Amino acid sequence: MHTYEPHKSTRYRNKEKSNSTKPLPELYKNRDNCCGCSACYAICSAQAITMETDVEGFLYPIIDGEKCVRCYRCLSVCAFKVDQEARGFLFP
Ligand code: SF4
Ligand code: SF4
Repeated sequence: MHTYEPHKSTRYRNKEKSNSTKPLPELYKNRDNCCGCSACYAICSAQAITMETDVEGFLYPIIDGEKCVRCYRCLSVCAFKVDQEARGFLFP
């Protein structure tokens, strides 16, 4: 039987090339709390976010640690997570 491991939380690349002591933004702890709307991607003026499919073929953001300038605008624009939190559906 074919088995696979879907990713769980925010995906990153180039974390090791990060040159800041400020933490990278965590867009979601559980991928159930990301609907792939791309709002975070659209607001990132540093082009640090790309939308890429996971192993199930659904689009999720990936943050580039080298490009990210830690403005955290991507966190404030995520209306889906705010809605999920208000409804008590934020998963660990
Ligand atoms: S804005 Fe939120 S829900 Fe939309 S793709 Fe980004 S993390 Fe996912
Ligand atoms: S913190 Fe700013 S630069 Fe980094 S991914 Fe979010 S919007 Fe882009």
